[in-house]
Amino acid sequence: MSGTNLKDSDQGFELKLRPKSLSEFIGHDDVVRRLKVIIEAAKGRNEAVGHILFHGPPGLGKTTLASILAHEMGASLVTASGPALEKAGDLAGILTNLGENDLFFIDEIHRMSRTMEEYLYPAMEDFHLDLMIDSGANARSVQVTLNHFSLIGATTKVGNLTSPLRSRFPIVIRLEYYDLHNLTEIVFRSAKILGCETSREAAEAIAKRARGTPRIANNILRWVRDYAQLHNGNQIDVSCVREACTMIKVDEKGLDEMDKKILEMIIELHDGGPVGLKTIAQTLGEDETTLAEVYEPYLIMQGFIKRGPRGREVTKFAYEHLGY
Ligand code: ADP
Repeated sequence: MSGTNLKDSDQGFELKLRPKSLSEFIGHDDVVRRLKVIIEAAKGRNEAVGHILFHGPPGLGKTTLASILAHEMGASLVTASGPALEKAGDLAGILTNLGENDLFFIDEIHRMSRTMEEYLYPAMEDFHLDLMIDSGANARSVQVTLNHFSLIGATTKVGNLTSPLRSRFPIVIRLEYYDLHNLTEIVFRSAKILGCETSREAAEAIAKRARGTPRIANNILRWVRDYAQLHNGNQIDVSCVREACTMIKVDEKGLDEMDKKILEMIIELHDGGPVGLKTIAQTLGEDETTLAEVYEPYLIMQGFIKRGPRGREVTKFAYEHLGY
């Protein structure tokens, strides 16, 4: 995408913009209300919050909510990633070091191995670990008691979680894409933190292009801020947003070059579809999973593509939007 990947971003930038408390978290009012009850009740009993599973597309606030939970509970947060947890010893090291009521956050928990999963079950259920000591004839298992901790899992693919693991989370929370109003508020808040002058209309123009996703909104803002610094005397207004986004080929509906390639390919080579995901992936030389997880959900949500039993079909709306 013209050298600016809006879907990823560096950690330092994200850290600065990440809300630290529930009152700073914009949107998802129902989730916030629910978490407030969970936190207050746990605090009242001086207990850890129950294990929580957050699921939903990337960039919507799963990691943010985990760190907010730790902050609101006055507890420490230890972070790990599912695929990086390879050895039982690593997991044991983390779990045995957790303090009372601390939070253990596992990102991409669906990519954790079965062995690690099974290792976690007694820790989640009874707060103990069965450790193997020694090997061969001397091998024996010792039981280690753990402090009461909360496991916070995050996944973009809840369907890939095994049902024994999923059922061990008493609280399961799905995060949806943000509406334009809340996304505009997020851009406005971020602009304030970054100290850039932005009109509300300009914040909305950024939000419209952000695919319902705060991370993308913040990344577009970052790009527009650079553009404004060089071309618009540091002022972010609607025309500056339009120009900056045209340069990185993101249109006013948030479609980027790849989205347009997908739509144009289905229209031109397959007469609008239906066509299978595999064929689309092969023709465009793109990974099937990336298409299914990153591009397709937004195209479907915005009504550019319909998914049927025989494959993907481009809608009339997409033809109009692309000027066919
Ligand atoms: P995920 O873990 O779901 O991929 P993150 O929690 O890392 O997403 O969120 C990405 C970025 O988006 C964060 O750095 C934060 O700045 C911003 N963000 C997410 N949700 C919100 C929100 N509700 N209000 C304000 N900013 C948000």
